[in-house]
Formats: sequence, C-alpha cells, structure tokens
Amino acid sequence: CGIVGYIGTQKTQSVLLEGLKKLEYRGYDSAGIAVFTSEGLRIAKAKGRLANLEQRLEEAPLVGTAGIGHTRWATHGKPSDVNSHPHTDESQKFSVVHNGIIENYLELKEELISQGHEFVSETDTEVISHLIAREYDGDIVKAVQKAITHMRGAFALGVLTEYEPDRLVAVRQASPLIIGIGEGENFIGSDIPAILKYTRNVYILNDGEMALLTADAVELMTIEGNFISREMIRVDWDA
Ligand code: GLU
Repeated sequence: CGIVGYIGTQKTQSVLLEGLKKLEYRGYDSAGIAVFTSEGLRIAKAKGRLANLEQRLEEAPLVGTAGIGHTRWATHGKPSDVNSHPHTDESQKFSVVHNGIIENYLELKEELISQGHEFVSETDTEVISHLIAREYDGDIVKAVQKAITHMRGAFALGVLTEYEPDRLVAVRQASPLIIGIGEGENFIGSDIPAILKYTRNVYILNDGEMALLTADAVELMTIEGNFISREMIRVDWDA
C-alpha cells in the first residue's frame, strides 16, 4: 500500500523507516524492508504494526547503501510474515516491493512453477521477483522491462538486485510513484510526504514510466526503454 526506496549512504534503514511512518495513513497490515548490506541483500519483514518491524530491526539492524521498503494492504494472500514484502526468488538475489495487483498472476505462477521456480508466499507479487530473476541477463533495467511485458494489472514497483548494488529501479503503472532528488542520494516514494524530510526536489512519474536511480543520478524512461526528460518540481509545502 506504500513504497519507499533509497540509494545513497549508510543511513538507508532510518530513511526507509521514516518514509514508511509517513505512509502509515494509507493503511497497512504488515511492513518490510530490503537493504544491501556488506553481506548482500537482506530482508526484514513483519506482520502487523510498523513497531513490530522496528523491534526486529533494533535487534538486528540492516546497514547498507540502498534499500526498499513497503507497507502492505493484502489483496492476495493473508497478512503474514511470509506474505509481507519485499519478495524475492529462490536465488535471493532480487528484491521487489509492489503496490497494486497483478491480474494474471495465477497463469504466471503456473508457468514459472513449470519452469522450476519455487514459491514461498501466496501473493500475486512474488511472481514479479521470479519473472525478473528469469529475465535477468546482466542488466536489471532490461530484466524489469521484459518482466513487465508479461504482467497485467496495476503496479508501482521498487526493485533491487545484489548483482548491481549501485542501482535501484522504480516503475509506475496505475499505482502512484514519485522520485526524490537529493545530493549524492536519491529516493522513491508512493507520495511526496514519504521523502519530504530529505528533499524537496521531485519528479512525478506517469503511468507507463520507470526510473533508474544511482546515488548520483536519475534516468527517466518509458517502460519500453525510451528516455524522457521531465521538469523537476520544487515542493514548497510541508507535510
Ligand atoms: N497485491 C499485493 C499483495 O497483496 C500488494 C498489495 C499492496 O498494494 O499493498 O501483497
């Protein structure tokens, strides 16, 4: 129900938690984050209130230079730890947060299972992480673009892969998503208040558009891969 993402310095976990707090008003039943740590991509998630996730992270903090976070409003699969986002695949090299619904997920799930993929959750979202893993051939942007061609429905996505720790991919298709521009750090969020504590410079994505974020740059393109230029908005109100 809410997405936040960050790429930049070591303060990843606190930016993600701060963003998720701002997204609480959208309603949710579970929350989670994925962070690039020195040991690779690590996920923490918990059913229930954000405080449950925070408690887990207090016991075992995730320190790293990029991350994605999610508050879930379950549409497919009951609220539970395992159904919470971020989702991954059996390689654990990919991590996805998703806001929306994948309408054809059952077909996709059957196809992926017949190709040897192993699912652990009941969500529609998990097909996305397996699709991206299947399509991955050294370039996470291309893998996401290929995965999208198989997906029907509404989705805002944040995607990370351990293979490319300096990149964060964001997609918007019928679910909201914005990009925040910082200095040496960049952000994604379901809405502007999620990141307003950190920057006032924002790009609004339209449906059918995606972004590639690094710590120092943001490239905007259509989901077909055509680069686009967009005027940056300066937010002059407070959340
Ligand atoms: N359909 C997904 C799920 O049930 C995402 C729901 C949401 O937008 O929070 O896990």
